[in-house]
Amino acid sequence: CGIIGIVGTNPVAHRLVEALKRLEYRGYDSAGIATLGPDGLDRRRAEGKLVNLERFVGENPLPGTIGIGHTRWATHGVPTVRNAHPHATQRLAVVHNGIIENFRELRAELERDGYRFESDTDSEVVAVHATRAMDRGAAPREAVHTTLRRLEGAFSLAFIFAGEENLLIGARRGSPLAVGEGRGEMFLGSDAIALSPFTDAIRYLEDGDWVVLDRDGATILDAEGRAVERVLTRSVGKP
Ligand code: GLU
Repeated sequence: CGIIGIVGTNPVAHRLVEALKRLEYRGYDSAGIATLGPDGLDRRRAEGKLVNLERFVGENPLPGTIGIGHTRWATHGVPTVRNAHPHATQRLAVVHNGIIENFRELRAELERDGYRFESDTDSEVVAVHATRAMDRGAAPREAVHTTLRRLEGAFSLAFIFAGEENLLIGARRGSPLAVGEGRGEMFLGSDAIALSPFTDAIRYLEDGDWVVLDRDGATILDAEGRAVERVLTRSVGKP
């Protein structure tokens, strides 16, 4: 029930887990992180408490200066490692909070196109739909926009992409997401509390917004894909 994302220049795995701890108060049944390291996209996921994930990451370190993290409160699919986020394909990894109402229809459509699923979640359709768009030639940003247009329900999302060390994309509809500005690093988080160790310069996305981040800044877009301005706040608290 929480999301974190970091695009920067320093290792992120440990900081992703620390940020997830600050979201523990929301409740969760499993957790995971994904990063893009020298050997590509990789992830670590664990059932139960964050100490399980922390131990697993400690024993199997995850390099990379860009990554996403998630605490899951299962709505579709039992709370196992297989169903834990991030969900990933060869092209990307994504974390999702909320519910994709039309996932059955999207999954059937993607399966008809030959795509295979690894989990029982509603969320995995987001990963696979964006992957299909990229397989058809879309750049990451276009693939996310195409996917957002197909989703029904409530979500906050964060994506990273294979081969893109300086690109993090977030989106929200009916579920909160904030953008944090650091020095040479940018952040996504479910709330300012998750981001408070990193920055107090926060912009809350409005409903329907999505955002393209690199180390140096963020472009916030509305549902139609037009760049929009959102207010910069400097207080830590829930919106
Ligand atoms: N509906 C998704 C799932 O069950 C996300 C749940 C959440 O918000 O953590 O995996």
